[in-house]
Amino acid sequence: MLNGIPPPASVAAQGALLLDFDGTLVPIAGRPDAVEVPGETIALLRQLHRRLGGALAIVTGRDLATLDRLLAPLVLPAAGEHGLALRRRVGGGVELAAPHVLPEVLCAAGQAIATAHPGTVLELKRAGIALHYRAVPGAAVSLLAAMCALVAGHPGHELLPGHMLLEIRPRGIDKGGAVRALMGAAPFAGRTPIFIGDDITDEDGIAASRALGGFGLRMAETFRTPDRLSDWLARIAVVQDDSAA
Ligand SMILES: [Mg+2]
Repeated sequence: MLNGIPPPASVAAQGALLLDFDGTLVPIAGRPDAVEVPGETIALLRQLHRRLGGALAIVTGRDLATLDRLLAPLVLPAAGEHGLALRRRVGGGVELAAPHVLPEVLCAAGQAIATAHPGTVLELKRAGIALHYRAVPGAAVSLLAAMCALVAGHPGHELLPGHMLLEIRPRGIDKGGAVRALMGAAPFAGRTPIFIGDDITDEDGIAASRALGGFGLRMAETFRTPDRLSDWLARIAVVQDDSAA
């Protein structure tokens, strides 16, 4: 086991892969809406999903509609908005962890902050907002102050910093809950979870996966780049299925 990475054959036989999206499966783009997923990556994910008997999920801060658009025509099991929205299997419905909606006032205030800081990009989600400032890193301190002041008026929400982004999301919703929910039912239940992520929001997923007896891998300590992760995923996808022999 290199750097705590499980061997492809054992993942193929009994693993469940729970993968963060941005910075893990695909490189981070200058703007969140500028991400493009190469056709080879989509083909690989399709093959991997089949190889794992459906136990492959994307666990992301993005909303599911955006994720589905980026992976089209592929639809995968997924947890969107850090676990707020859950799709356990292809063709299955979307479960909401809580009936959260984005408060109008939070949305308007977020837009005002974005307008006051040209170059930032505001992402509106089902129940929260994410302010991306990759193009204007010098605005970080001012943005943090504004977002702190904003979240102080919304006790049901919390502020979470990420790579060049500040996110306000419903309190109590995190990727750890997403991992536990996915692993609790078919096609994931009974398999060993392997969660992989690159950002602060992934720490809850890493901890939950380890607590379930599985693996929680940080990109910086293991694969480092999405390309290298893809190489490892490809090795899992081509492991021969002995049970079919
Ligand atoms: Mg990430």
